[in-house]
Amino acid sequence: MDILITEALTRRYGSLVAVDRLDLRIAPGERRAVIGPNGAGKTTLLDMLAGAIRPSGGRVRFDGRDITGYGPARRARLGIGRIHQRPAAWASLTTLDNVAVAGARHRGGVRQSRRPAVELLDRLGLADLAGVEAGRLSHGQLRQLEIAMALAGEPRLLLLDEPAAGLSPVEFERLAEVLRDLPSEVTLLLVEHRLDLVYALADVVTVLRDGQYVVTGTPDEIRVSHAVRQAYSGAV
Ligand code: ATP
Repeated sequence: MDILITEALTRRYGSLVAVDRLDLRIAPGERRAVIGPNGAGKTTLLDMLAGAIRPSGGRVRFDGRDITGYGPARRARLGIGRIHQRPAAWASLTTLDNVAVAGARHRGGVRQSRRPAVELLDRLGLADLAGVEAGRLSHGQLRQLEIAMALAGEPRLLLLDEPAAGLSPVEFERLAEVLRDLPSEVTLLLVEHRLDLVYALADVVTVLRDGQYVVTGTPDEIRVSHAVRQAYSGAV
Protein backbone atom coordinates (compact mmCIF):
# COMPACT_ATOMS: atom_id res chain seq x y z
CA MET A 1 0.00 0.00 0.00
CA ASP A 2 1.28 3.46 -0.82
CA ILE A 3 2.18 5.51 2.23
CA LEU A 4 1.34 8.87 0.68
CA ILE A 5 -1.41 9.56 -1.82
CA THR A 6 -2.63 12.89 -3.11
CA GLU A 7 -5.85 13.03 -5.06
CA ALA A 8 -6.51 16.05 -7.25
CA LEU A 9 -4.62 18.15 -4.71
CA THR A 10 -5.08 21.81 -5.56
CA ARG A 11 -4.06 25.17 -4.17
CA ARG A 12 -5.23 28.45 -5.63
CA TYR A 13 -4.13 31.98 -4.83
CA GLY A 14 -6.86 34.09 -6.37
CA SER A 15 -6.81 33.27 -10.05
CA LEU A 16 -3.35 31.67 -9.85
CA VAL A 17 -3.34 27.88 -9.53
CA ALA A 18 -0.14 27.09 -7.62
CA VAL A 19 -0.83 23.32 -7.62
CA ASP A 20 -3.41 21.95 -10.01
CA ARG A 21 -5.24 18.67 -9.33
CA LEU A 22 -2.09 16.75 -8.49
CA ASP A 23 -2.26 12.97 -8.12
CA LEU A 24 0.78 11.42 -6.47
CA ARG A 25 1.40 7.95 -5.09
CA ILE A 26 4.50 7.28 -3.06
CA ALA A 27 5.47 3.81 -1.82
CA PRO A 28 6.87 3.17 1.66
CA GLY A 29 10.65 3.65 1.70
CA GLU A 30 10.64 5.37 -1.68
CA ARG A 31 13.01 8.26 -2.36
CA ARG A 32 10.90 10.63 -4.43
CA ALA A 33 12.14 13.95 -5.76
CA VAL A 34 9.88 16.72 -7.02
CA ILE A 35 11.59 19.11 -9.40
CA GLY A 36 10.54 21.95 -11.66
CA PRO A 37 11.38 25.54 -12.49
CA ASN A 38 10.73 28.43 -10.10
CA GLY A 39 7.04 28.83 -9.37
CA ALA A 40 6.24 25.21 -10.27
CA GLY A 41 4.38 24.71 -6.99
CA LYS A 42 6.93 22.53 -5.19
CA THR A 43 6.98 24.39 -1.88
CA THR A 44 3.20 24.80 -1.99
CA LEU A 45 2.93 21.02 -2.36
CA LEU A 46 5.19 20.40 0.64
CA ASP A 47 3.24 22.96 2.66
CA MET A 48 0.01 21.12 1.91
CA LEU A 49 1.57 17.76 2.83
CA ALA A 50 2.94 19.11 6.11
CA GLY A 51 -0.39 20.76 6.92
CA ALA A 52 1.10 24.28 6.91
CA ILE A 53 -1.42 25.46 4.33
CA ARG A 54 -4.84 24.15 3.45
CA PRO A 55 -5.58 22.85 -0.02
CA SER A 56 -8.26 24.58 -2.06
CA GLY A 57 -9.36 21.14 -3.24
CA GLY A 58 -8.44 17.47 -3.28
CA ARG A 59 -7.26 15.07 -0.60
CA VAL A 60 -4.12 13.86 1.14
CA ARG A 61 -3.93 10.30 2.43
CA PHE A 62 -1.15 9.07 4.67
CA ASP A 63 -0.84 5.42 5.54
CA GLY A 64 -4.43 4.78 4.49
CA ARG A 65 -5.88 7.65 6.50
CA ASP A 66 -7.43 10.81 5.08
CA ILE A 67 -5.39 13.58 6.74
CA THR A 68 -6.59 16.46 4.57
CA GLY A 69 -8.12 18.28 7.53
CA TYR A 70 -5.23 17.62 9.96
CA GLY A 71 -2.97 20.42 11.19
CA PRO A 72 0.85 20.24 11.27
CA ALA A 73 1.16 18.95 14.85
CA ARG A 74 -1.23 16.10 14.26
CA ARG A 75 0.58 15.16 11.06
CA ALA A 76 3.92 15.26 12.87
CA ARG A 77 2.50 12.87 15.47
CA LEU A 78 1.48 10.49 12.68
CA GLY A 79 5.07 10.47 11.40
CA ILE A 80 5.39 13.28 8.88
CA GLY A 81 8.61 15.23 9.45
CA ARG A 82 9.73 18.33 7.62
CA ILE A 83 12.91 20.21 6.91
CA HIS A 84 12.37 23.79 5.88
CA GLN A 85 14.21 26.02 3.47
CA ARG A 86 15.27 27.97 6.57
CA PRO A 87 16.68 25.99 9.49
CA ALA A 88 14.60 26.23 12.66
CA ALA A 89 17.01 25.27 15.46
CA TRP A 90 17.18 27.21 18.74
CA ALA A 91 20.36 29.32 18.48
CA SER A 92 21.13 29.34 22.22
CA LEU A 93 20.75 25.58 22.70
CA THR A 94 23.49 23.09 21.92
CA THR A 95 23.20 20.72 19.00
CA LEU A 96 22.45 17.88 21.39
CA ASP A 97 19.78 19.83 23.28
CA ASN A 98 18.10 20.86 20.04
CA VAL A 99 17.88 17.23 18.97
CA ALA A 100 16.72 16.12 22.43
CA VAL A 101 13.99 18.79 22.47
CA ALA A 102 12.94 17.86 18.95
CA GLY A 103 12.56 14.22 20.00
CA ALA A 104 10.91 14.93 23.35
CA ARG A 105 7.33 14.46 22.27
CA HIS A 106 8.13 11.21 20.54
CA ARG A 107 10.09 9.88 23.52
CA GLY A 108 7.78 11.10 26.26
CA GLY A 109 10.06 13.85 27.62
CA VAL A 110 13.40 15.61 27.08
CA ARG A 111 15.14 13.41 29.65
CA GLN A 112 14.13 10.23 27.85
CA SER A 113 15.05 11.79 24.55
CA ARG A 114 18.70 12.60 25.40
CA ARG A 115 20.26 9.18 24.94
CA PRO A 116 18.56 8.54 21.58
CA ALA A 117 19.69 12.06 20.59
CA VAL A 118 23.32 11.20 21.41
CA GLU A 119 23.05 8.00 19.37
CA LEU A 120 21.44 9.82 16.48
CA LEU A 121 24.19 12.47 16.37
CA ASP A 122 26.73 9.65 16.42
CA ARG A 123 25.02 7.87 13.57
CA LEU A 124 24.91 11.06 11.50
CA GLY A 125 28.58 11.81 12.18
CA LEU A 126 27.68 14.91 14.18
CA ALA A 127 28.94 13.81 17.59
CA ASP A 128 31.68 16.48 17.51
CA LEU A 129 29.02 19.19 17.38
CA ALA A 130 26.95 17.86 20.30
CA GLY A 131 28.12 20.54 22.75
CA VAL A 132 28.18 23.44 20.28
CA GLU A 133 25.42 26.05 20.40
CA ALA A 134 23.33 26.01 17.24
CA GLY A 135 23.96 29.74 16.83
CA ARG A 136 27.65 28.98 16.27
CA LEU A 137 27.15 26.36 13.56
CA SER A 138 27.87 26.97 9.89
CA HIS A 139 24.97 26.99 7.47
CA GLY A 140 25.79 23.45 6.36
CA GLN A 141 26.07 22.19 9.92
CA LEU A 142 22.71 23.78 10.72
CA ARG A 143 21.16 21.91 7.81
CA GLN A 144 22.50 18.66 9.19
CA LEU A 145 21.25 19.59 12.65
CA GLU A 146 17.80 20.18 11.23
CA ILE A 147 17.85 16.78 9.62
CA ALA A 148 18.86 15.29 12.97
CA MET A 149 16.00 17.22 14.63
CA ALA A 150 13.52 15.87 12.11
CA LEU A 151 14.85 12.31 12.53
CA ALA A 152 14.61 12.56 16.33
CA GLY A 153 10.85 12.21 15.94
CA GLU A 154 11.44 9.01 13.91
CA PRO A 155 9.33 10.17 10.99
CA ARG A 156 8.05 7.68 8.46
CA LEU A 157 7.84 10.36 5.80
CA LEU A 158 10.44 13.12 5.62
CA LEU A 159 9.68 16.23 3.56
CA LEU A 160 12.83 18.09 2.51
CA ASP A 161 12.59 21.57 1.05
CA GLU A 162 15.80 22.47 -0.80
CA PRO A 163 18.19 21.03 1.77
CA ALA A 164 21.21 21.82 -0.45
CA ALA A 165 20.45 25.54 -0.76
CA GLY A 166 23.47 27.67 0.11
CA LEU A 167 25.82 24.81 0.96
CA SER A 168 29.54 24.79 0.20
CA PRO A 169 30.80 21.88 -1.93
CA VAL A 170 32.10 20.06 1.15
CA GLU A 171 28.83 20.62 3.05
CA PHE A 172 26.93 19.43 -0.02
CA GLU A 173 28.85 16.15 -0.13
CA ARG A 174 28.26 15.61 3.57
CA LEU A 175 24.52 16.28 3.19
CA ALA A 176 24.29 13.85 0.28
CA GLU A 177 25.99 11.22 2.42
CA VAL A 178 23.65 11.82 5.38
CA LEU A 179 20.58 11.57 3.17
CA ARG A 180 21.89 8.49 1.38
CA ASP A 181 22.46 6.77 4.71
CA LEU A 182 18.98 7.41 6.13
CA PRO A 183 17.23 4.24 7.33
CA SER A 184 15.69 2.54 4.31
CA GLU A 185 12.22 2.49 5.87
CA VAL A 186 12.05 6.30 5.91
CA THR A 187 10.14 7.60 2.90
CA LEU A 188 11.69 10.75 1.42
CA LEU A 189 10.06 13.52 -0.53
CA LEU A 190 12.78 15.85 -1.71
CA VAL A 191 12.26 19.23 -3.37
CA GLU A 192 15.59 20.36 -4.74
CA HIS A 193 17.05 22.54 -7.48
CA ARG A 194 20.39 20.76 -7.37
CA LEU A 195 19.76 18.02 -9.90
CA ASP A 196 23.01 16.25 -9.01
CA LEU A 197 21.56 15.62 -5.53
CA VAL A 198 18.22 14.59 -7.01
CA TYR A 199 19.83 12.11 -9.39
CA ALA A 200 22.12 10.75 -6.69
CA LEU A 201 19.30 10.14 -4.22
CA ALA A 202 15.95 9.66 -5.89
CA ASP A 203 14.40 6.40 -7.05
CA VAL A 204 11.61 8.30 -8.77
CA VAL A 205 11.38 11.91 -9.95
CA THR A 206 8.21 13.92 -10.54
CA VAL A 207 8.36 17.09 -12.62
CA LEU A 208 5.98 20.02 -12.15
CA ARG A 209 5.68 23.25 -14.08
CA ASP A 210 3.37 26.17 -13.31
CA GLY A 211 1.41 24.01 -10.88
CA GLN A 212 0.88 21.35 -13.52
CA TYR A 213 2.02 17.75 -13.37
CA VAL A 214 4.47 17.09 -16.23
CA VAL A 215 5.90 13.59 -15.85
CA THR A 216 7.17 10.99 -13.39
CA GLY A 217 10.05 8.61 -14.08
CA THR A 218 13.32 7.18 -12.92
CA PRO A 219 16.30 9.56 -12.84
CA ASP A 220 17.58 7.97 -16.07
CA GLU A 221 14.23 8.52 -17.78
CA ILE A 222 13.94 12.08 -16.52
CA ARG A 223 17.47 12.99 -17.57
CA VAL A 224 16.69 12.29 -21.22
CA SER A 225 13.01 13.27 -21.19
CA HIS A 226 11.87 15.65 -23.87
CA ALA A 227 8.94 16.75 -21.68
CA VAL A 228 11.37 17.73 -18.94
CA ARG A 229 13.55 19.76 -21.28
CA GLN A 230 10.42 21.52 -22.46
CA ALA A 231 9.25 22.15 -18.90
CA TYR A 232 12.53 23.89 -18.15
CA SER A 233 12.87 25.71 -21.46
CA GLY A 234 12.26 29.40 -21.09
CA ALA A 235 12.15 28.97 -17.33
CA VAL A 236 14.22 31.18 -15.04
P1 ATP B 1 10.75 27.90 -6.15
O1 ATP B 1 11.52 26.83 -6.87
O2 ATP B 1 11.03 29.26 -6.69
O3 ATP B 1 10.83 27.80 -4.65
P2 ATP B 1 8.19 26.53 -6.15
O4 ATP B 1 8.12 25.49 -7.21
O5 ATP B 1 8.47 26.09 -4.77
O6 ATP B 1 9.22 27.66 -6.59
P3 ATP B 1 5.89 27.81 -5.02
O7 ATP B 1 6.69 28.59 -4.06
O8 ATP B 1 5.12 26.65 -4.52
O9 ATP B 1 6.82 27.32 -6.22
O10 ATP B 1 4.92 28.83 -5.78
C1 ATP B 1 3.98 28.39 -6.77
C2 ATP B 1 3.20 29.61 -7.25
O11 ATP B 1 2.35 30.04 -6.21
C3 ATP B 1 4.09 30.77 -7.62
O12 ATP B 1 3.53 31.40 -8.77
C4 ATP B 1 4.00 31.67 -6.42
O13 ATP B 1 4.16 33.03 -6.78
C5 ATP B 1 2.59 31.40 -5.92
N1 ATP B 1 2.45 31.58 -4.47
C6 ATP B 1 3.06 30.87 -3.52
N2 ATP B 1 2.70 31.28 -2.28
C7 ATP B 1 1.84 32.32 -2.47
C8 ATP B 1 1.10 33.18 -1.59
N3 ATP B 1 1.18 33.05 -0.27
N4 ATP B 1 0.32 34.12 -2.15
C9 ATP B 1 0.22 34.24 -3.50
N5 ATP B 1 0.87 33.45 -4.37
C10 ATP B 1 1.67 32.52 -3.87
